[in-house]
Amino acid sequence: MTAEDYSGRVDELFERQLRDWDTVRDNYAALDGACLRTLELDDALIVLQHNPERRRSAAARLDDTSQPCFLCRDGQPAEQEAIVWADRYKIQVNPYPIFPRHLTIASLDHVAQSLASPTRVADMLALARALPQYVVFYNGADCGASAPHHFHFQAGIKGLMPLCDEVSDPVMWPYESHLEGNNTGFVGCTRCQGRLLFYIHTNNEPQAAIYFARLYIAMLGVNEHGREPSLNLLCWVDGDDYHLLLVPRAKHRPACFGTGRGKLLVSPASVEMGGLWALPVQDDYDTLTAQQVSDIYNEVCIDNATAVAIIDHFLTTEKTLPL
Ligand SMILES: [Zn+2]
Repeated sequence: MTAEDYSGRVDELFERQLRDWDTVRDNYAALDGACLRTLELDDALIVLQHNPERRRSAAARLDDTSQPCFLCRDGQPAEQEAIVWADRYKIQVNPYPIFPRHLTIASLDHVAQSLASPTRVADMLALARALPQYVVFYNGADCGASAPHHFHFQAGIKGLMPLCDEVSDPVMWPYESHLEGNNTGFVGCTRCQGRLLFYIHTNNEPQAAIYFARLYIAMLGVNEHGREPSLNLLCWVDGDDYHLLLVPRAKHRPACFGTGRGKLLVSPASVEMGGLWALPVQDDYDTLTAQQVSDIYNEVCIDNATAVAIIDHFLTTEKTLPL
């Protein structure tokens, strides 16, 4: 796996695409002027962003296969460039950004969105190392992926998702939240303002992949439909340390999803789990409250009984898995 830092090449890619592609130039300029508002949920922060260009993503129909795949070369705008990484992925500028630097990192092959192959999470960890200024994230096919038929990660520049900073505070991890901890790493589970989340922190890259594989297998063990467990996953590197935030999901969209009175146009995914809500509708942006955010987190994340079942499986899985 390549250990090279891709920051310089990605910066150059942004420069070229901002210069040569009107959609990218317009949408990043609009994001630069986007309104931001913060909500406080006790000790957690939520940032709201008014972002009209995200309407297509928030409202996307997941079963729509009538359009050509926009992650395959034939379905992409002529202006879209790519940096090939590890002979298997293409790093591209996301033309509909939430972050002032927002990447889509798609498989070169048109294959389904799934982390079932252990190489995917190994790739994610290596990507986070290659892009140390970014948080790399993955949305499951049924909980936020805008292209569920074509495997992809995304990455957003660090510093905008409050949860990524909040989890590094030891106050968030009292003893009873520890699942496993030793001199090679830590795994914890807690509920943060409605979000039931698992957190892996280690300076050992293979160990991070093993911890994730054990959690994934544990989730499969409590899952009745036999498909990939619904999940959002965020990953970043800080010096020698690897961080993985896993948010198992119970639902894709809240009951209030939609437009009009009493409705909210948002499909919560990794970024919203990280505490950043991109809201395309002005009225949603103006009126959303901390209590509503917390209620939606509780609604779309798993309940405590499911979490306990996952933890039981996790604690009984083999601690070294063949990867
Ligand atoms: Zn495709």
